[in-house]
Amino acid sequence: MSRFLSPRFEALEAYTPGEQPRDQQYIKLNTNESPFPPSPEVIERINADEVRRLHLYPDPEGKFLKEKLAKLYGVEKENIFLSNGSDDILNFAFMAFCDNERGAVFPEISYGFYPVYADLYQVPHMKIPLKEDFSIHYKDYCNVNKMVVIANPNAPTGMEIGLYEIEEILKSNPHHVVLIDEAYVDFGGTSAVGLVEKYPNLMVSMTYSKSRSMAGARLGFAIASKEIIEDLEKIKFSTNPYNINRLTLVAGEAAVDSDFYYKENSKKIIATREATVKALKNLGFIVLDSKANFIFAKHDKIYGGEFYAELKKKGVLVRHFEKEKIKDFVRITIGTDAQMKIFLQKTAEILNER
Ligand code: PMP
Repeated sequence: MSRFLSPRFEALEAYTPGEQPRDQQYIKLNTNESPFPPSPEVIERINADEVRRLHLYPDPEGKFLKEKLAKLYGVEKENIFLSNGSDDILNFAFMAFCDNERGAVFPEISYGFYPVYADLYQVPHMKIPLKEDFSIHYKDYCNVNKMVVIANPNAPTGMEIGLYEIEEILKSNPHHVVLIDEAYVDFGGTSAVGLVEKYPNLMVSMTYSKSRSMAGARLGFAIASKEIIEDLEKIKFSTNPYNINRLTLVAGEAAVDSDFYYKENSKKIIATREATVKALKNLGFIVLDSKANFIFAKHDKIYGGEFYAELKKKGVLVRHFEKEKIKDFVRITIGTDAQMKIFLQKTAEILNER
């Protein structure tokens, strides 16, 4: 800690993103990126003319992108909030809807950024354990009288809860925001967006980083009641109104125009996921039921940290969390068929070496 940092951040433990090593080329299955490039339309629209316009600020409202997203999701432009990746949305939500009296709850095993934001804003929070089978039990989130944050599908398990359960949580916490983080919803999950009209306390966040192959562009959006969106806009315009750059806005619009391309890619990922799950089970792995672009798996013969390290030596990166209840597992992002073939070969080699 430097002598300049405010004491209120003294104990803050920052989020650790997955590795982005530059030492060699890995088969990168560790940060849930898409293995596919952005659509041809996105690549074409980010051209020299757009670069020439970089001397101008971007539209702080992102009007055109909001209009396209509103049409795609069957809501109004005023129901959409745009942000610099969906991490930024989470940040704004904790800033806007919580404080040292208004707390938050989220699952104990979930996206590691939730407790960091809670700590950053000194929000009292409760981490609710998952059930034995790693599922989220909705009743644990009913009548909690705090902001509820649930990744659905959850990370790193990949498991989802149904809309009925989400409705029960919404109904029982009418005075608090229920934030459903749908970063991974496009890989076979069920979206809660259809409930936004009925529940003014529902906020759904999504990202371009996964199914839309734009992790490097940093673009996320939330869909919620106008009331919630206005609150988020207030925070955004009080921090950094131009938080989405011009090129990303253009890329985001082109991506909505090529929705078909991304839907086809998601279908490919789902098919590859199912084939990988089957192959891993044949090798003796226990694999949780995933609706995301990653799977969470463990094997009796090898501890998660060792499996991660052995794979890394062989040029394949996966993610391991040194956390009590999940340290036997690794999280494996679904890549292309060719990448997964190599991953499975290396995995079989590692098991044979034991
Ligand atoms: N939510 C969840 C559950 C995630 O796993 C991630 C990706 N690390 C994010 C949100 C944030 O993604 P991004 O900021 O790239 O939109």
